[in-house]
Amino acid sequence: MRLFSLLPCLFLAAFLKCVSACGSEWCYTGCPTAPSEWHSISGSFCGNKRQSPINITCINVKKDDHLGNFTFVNFTSKHVITKLTNTGHTVKYHLMENEVEVSGGGLNGTYTSLQFHFHWGYSDHHQGSEHLINGHRYPMEVHIVSLKKGKNVTQAVADSEGIAALGFFIDVTDDEDMSGPWDNLTSYITCEKDSDVNITAPISIHDLIGNVDLTKYFRYMGSLTTPLCNEAVVWTVFEEPIKISKKLIERFPTKTGYTSVYRPPQPLNGRTVYASPAVHIDCDWCYDNHCEFSPTHWHMLPGSFCDGNRQSPVDIVTKNTVENKDLGDFVYTKFDDKHVIKYIINTGHAVKCVLKEDMVEVSEGGLGHNYSTLQFHFHWGTTSDNSTGSEHTVDSKRYQMEMHIVNKRKDLTLEEAVKTPNGLAVLAFFMEAAESHKSKGRSGDSEETSHTSDEDPWKKLTSYLPAIQNISSHVEVKKEISIDDLLGDVNRHEYYRYNGSLTTPSCNEAVVWTVFKEPVKVDPSLMKMFPAQAGYSDAFRPLQSHNSRKIYKTSAAPAPGPAILVLLLAFYCSFSANFHL
Ligand SMILES: [Zn+2]
Ligand SMILES: [Zn+2]
Repeated sequence: MRLFSLLPCLFLAAFLKCVSACGSEWCYTGCPTAPSEWHSISGSFCGNKRQSPINITCINVKKDDHLGNFTFVNFTSKHVITKLTNTGHTVKYHLMENEVEVSGGGLNGTYTSLQFHFHWGYSDHHQGSEHLINGHRYPMEVHIVSLKKGKNVTQAVADSEGIAALGFFIDVTDDEDMSGPWDNLTSYITCEKDSDVNITAPISIHDLIGNVDLTKYFRYMGSLTTPLCNEAVVWTVFEEPIKISKKLIERFPTKTGYTSVYRPPQPLNGRTVYASPAVHIDCDWCYDNHCEFSPTHWHMLPGSFCDGNRQSPVDIVTKNTVENKDLGDFVYTKFDDKHVIKYIINTGHAVKCVLKEDMVEVSEGGLGHNYSTLQFHFHWGTTSDNSTGSEHTVDSKRYQMEMHIVNKRKDLTLEEAVKTPNGLAVLAFFMEAAESHKSKGRSGDSEETSHTSDEDPWKKLTSYLPAIQNISSHVEVKKEISIDDLLGDVNRHEYYRYNGSLTTPSCNEAVVWTVFKEPVKVDPSLMKMFPAQAGYSDAFRPLQSHNSRKIYKTSAAPAPGPAILVLLLAFYCSFSANFHL
């Protein structure tokens, strides 16, 4: 049935294709003058610097208190939508002349609305809005086009604010409430090109917009999104989509016989996108689902690499690790200095200890470069006794916490380092409950705590946590704590090595990872202070795919043990005795 009704349109589309190939007609796809060539059309502005559409992202949006409410004239009138035309590029609904007006909303004067038209895609998997929000494309977009009051089209396109376009996204809903007016509107769509169809059904613009919040919108200076792309448009893009059923969205490609009628996003070229005060758009990411960007959406953050193919953390499958003799011991500079921590900050995602600049260093350990140590921070689970919150896992075992010591190649700036495959080196230490405290812990938390010495470096460090309960708050570190103190006597000879990424957005693939095999032992009551005082739990990224990456491990050759030391000492003593050294 549907195929049958589509046939005349396909036939027409084939005919149109011939026309466009023969003439200088532009198109969206499948002709010589596709969007990438629109700039070459005679008299075109399509290659200029304030083009539309754009990708509206949290990093290029600024709030503007002047973007107040709109005033719409005759948006509720049921007799202003007069006819529709299938232009071959869109379906355009004409409005009664000089009846519909838009003003307010930060616009400079009053605009008279001429028409509205649509942009659509192909199917569920090929959306067709022109503007994008944080890289997200909606199924469709409708543009209400208005000219500055008193100007004709020729005058309006010559004025940098001559045209006001209101863009509404259209999204799919299962709710059939909106289907009435949209069902009516779309029933008129014809596949016949350039023939007008009169609209007799009483439909108002307001009926179509439904309950979209008209106080939430973006504003920027742009262009028409079809040739000649005149840079005369004050754009308003509403944040909330209009919601209609899938079957009505499908009518656009089906009844017109053409698909994917949208222009790709254009460079911003330094323009600012303003947002009305009611808009909520920010680059907030989180580890759970209570924010705009949960881990599965991190890749949609502007400039993000989170869907790359060398992401971290990973599960270390020990039977697949490859021994590498180049992975020797590290050389640590100022790890024993008790005054290197500048301050501790609660970033809202982690507790981070920022080090004094250009003091602490790491080299050797198969790194091939000298690195300066910038900071160390922690990943954790919850306050429960059996909580686990490390980022890496070993044979699927997740440890209680994980400490990351972050180092930057000395010969690079931070900006360069995050773009260089080995620009950063992170030393990761698992953290596990100290055995002795575990057994004592049975008699209760209070006693457990009492066994922690005030000289315990972890007690000193965590004593600062109550001072940084507020997100973004920080506290200067005055107590004497060295990194060596915190690491204690953990084995630093045996570790895993692989190439990965930062484990927080933008997930730059710039990290040489070192994951030490032996966990650092920490009093469990002190570890609980991280989630308890920072105010959030499960601060770790889910595991990422290996994507055929190798994980190396240090060679199994034992370091000089106590027996060898005794022999050496014995030899030294007899040697010195003999030679009176
Ligand atoms: Zn448009
Ligand atoms: Zn980390």
